[in-house]
Amino acid sequence: MDCIVTKFGGSSLADAKQFKKVKEIILSDSKRRFVIPSAPGKRHNKDYKITDLLYLCHAHVESSIPFDEVFKLISDRYKEIVKDLGLDLNIDDDLNIIKKNLENGFSRDYAASRGEYLNGIILAKYLNYEFIDAAELIVFDKSRNLDSEKTNQLIESRLSNVEKAVIPGFYGANSLGDIVTFSRGGSDITGSLIAAGVEANLYENWTDVSGFLMADPRIVKNPKTIEKITYRELRELSYMGASVLHEEAIFPVRKNGIPINIKNTNIPKDVGTFIINDFTNINENRTITGIAGKKDFTVISIEKALMNYELGFCRKLLSILEHHNVSFENMPSGIDTVCLVVSDNQIKDKLQVIVKEIELQCSPDSIHIYPNMALIATVGRGMTKSLGVASKIFTALSDNGINIRMIDQGSSEINILVGIENDDFEKAIQAIYNSFV
Ligand code: ADP
Ligand code: ASP
Ligand code: MG
Repeated sequence: MDCIVTKFGGSSLADAKQFKKVKEIILSDSKRRFVIPSAPGKRHNKDYKITDLLYLCHAHVESSIPFDEVFKLISDRYKEIVKDLGLDLNIDDDLNIIKKNLENGFSRDYAASRGEYLNGIILAKYLNYEFIDAAELIVFDKSRNLDSEKTNQLIESRLSNVEKAVIPGFYGANSLGDIVTFSRGGSDITGSLIAAGVEANLYENWTDVSGFLMADPRIVKNPKTIEKITYRELRELSYMGASVLHEEAIFPVRKNGIPINIKNTNIPKDVGTFIINDFTNINENRTITGIAGKKDFTVISIEKALMNYELGFCRKLLSILEHHNVSFENMPSGIDTVCLVVSDNQIKDKLQVIVKEIELQCSPDSIHIYPNMALIATVGRGMTKSLGVASKIFTALSDNGINIRMIDQGSSEINILVGIENDDFEKAIQAIYNSFV
């Protein structure tokens, strides 16, 4: 039977008005059998996300500070939704249990997960769909890693005879039954896992923008929508900060070649973006597909004559990072130089000691540190066929007085990465966008 898995983000389910739009979308196609809700998001710019409030409640409990006021913001929001939808549903019992559990020291993950759990109960009632707790389907191991195989088996067997269901996003459970969440924005992953498990024809991801845009709309005004993008390109863009879809969400569907369609809950008639197989021949003349970036990196640039001949040089370098439990983002290299690009929240206060160890163990000719760096990725499957993409990017940046500190085209021929100063970030994205669009 044809089947569509539909995931709705926080802004799509922020209040009763949004719930009504969601219901209309779901009921307009009977193939929309499995629905994955997020927790209520912001209703306006100054509003709170329920997930943030739940984390706050947990932090209050940890510090033995009363959390009644914060919890009231949460319970009022859910009660208002239930009331405005005119549902015959008693959400108070669930809210009371959650509050008690928080008081009794339930985990941070448990706290955060309740946002999706409650929204799932309300949405299931509103749609007259079965509610299935994600804790029954999504399995994590002791180290909080997803057990993809078990998860896939459970989804397949549990949902095989279910006609229509709502399954909350963002969380699952370990073998002890303790709740474990994905990282922030993780409902996108739940949707993808369910789509893979039921072998859906399509995974729809409904949000507040009409698809994946060529650049972050908070930086570039009215960027163009990307109509079609391959999984690989999307992976590069979402990893580099295009936050519309969680960077891990493509893996489950990619295996089975299930397309993802990003759609706008507020303008459902917009086609949105289709994320499709890497090998599909898309007949388009566009050179670049999109631009994304992230701030707050430190670059450690190491120079040593003839380093290429020195056996084990990079191994020594990387084992120093490993020893300090620091992962690197990127490692562009030249003949006598290598740069380690490390995110600031990885390196924290370990920079000095790491530099000292590099000096001692690798005896470089020089080490330079570039703090406050941002990385910008310009991504496009069309790049391989067209000459001069890199020079166009560099010209755009230099014409706008932006210094390029680092360039890496690396082994991915669909991505050109530049390192610039944090302060130039927004200006640089706009400049690259203007030069291609
Ligand atoms: P949801 O709550 O529906 O999961 P998110 O807030 O996680 O939605 O993602 C949608 C947001 O992603 C948009 O509102 C937009 O501000 C931001 N965004 C960042 N980069 C892009 C991009 N390239 N295209 C579209 N949206 C983007
Ligand atoms: N509600 C969670 C968050 O805010 C998960 C999600 O929205 O996907 O991160
Ligand atoms: Mg999201």
